[in-house]
Amino acid sequence: MIHCFEPANLHICRGIKKKKIKLLQMKNNHTTKNIIFDFGGVILDIDPQQTIEALQELGFKDVMRFQDKDFQANIIDKFERGILSPETFRNKVREFMQIKACNQDIDDAWNALLFDIPENRIRVLEEVKKNYNIFLLSNSNEIHYDMYLRDLQLRFGYHNFDQLFHKAYFSFDLHLSKPNPEIFEFVMNQHKLIPEQTLFIDNTLIHIEAARSLGLQTYHLVKPEKVRDLFIDGMLRPDLIQ
Ligand SMILES: [Mg+2]
Repeated sequence: MIHCFEPANLHICRGIKKKKIKLLQMKNNHTTKNIIFDFGGVILDIDPQQTIEALQELGFKDVMRFQDKDFQANIIDKFERGILSPETFRNKVREFMQIKACNQDIDDAWNALLFDIPENRIRVLEEVKKNYNIFLLSNSNEIHYDMYLRDLQLRFGYHNFDQLFHKAYFSFDLHLSKPNPEIFEFVMNQHKLIPEQTLFIDNTLIHIEAARSLGLQTYHLVKPEKVRDLFIDGMLRPDLIQ
């Protein structure tokens, strides 16, 4: 299939001759014009273990409860959809983890999972933007946002993510999160994007599956592959294009 951007299927894609690929492209109008990027794990590396360890240092004893479904659904997911304010989120973390940490300590622990944005990924995006309409679609929250926005501003001189991308969307702002199909439909409708001409890149399989069910092209980025590996001089690698 044309939208088989799973790494496991690459050998199949690579096996198709370029002429045949071009014919398919013209016939099905599948030329990629738009690329929607995930943020965490694609543009920015993350390591949740760092946050767990930082919370332990604040006195959080029962680490296994970090994976607790109620905690994920009622605190983390709601914070990501902007249903909880940062203040309410911090209070719920204190209550759930039975810790008495100040706001700054909780924010620092929560942000511990974020790495700096690698400069080479910013440069890749700048090149890719010359050839495609590029968008950011991130499940994120206000505390993390403040941290990596500052990184973007101080290290790269951008005012915000709408300058780096044609448009950036964050779950806490939209009150929707991936994999809910509505978040993809919202972005597609906002820019009148044609699904077959739109590639979605994410490191989370359920997000990829949701986008694919709406007809988008998809690429599931799996470690150790980096997003820069998908492009040459700002263009999608020829063997990835169908
Ligand atoms: Mg991700």
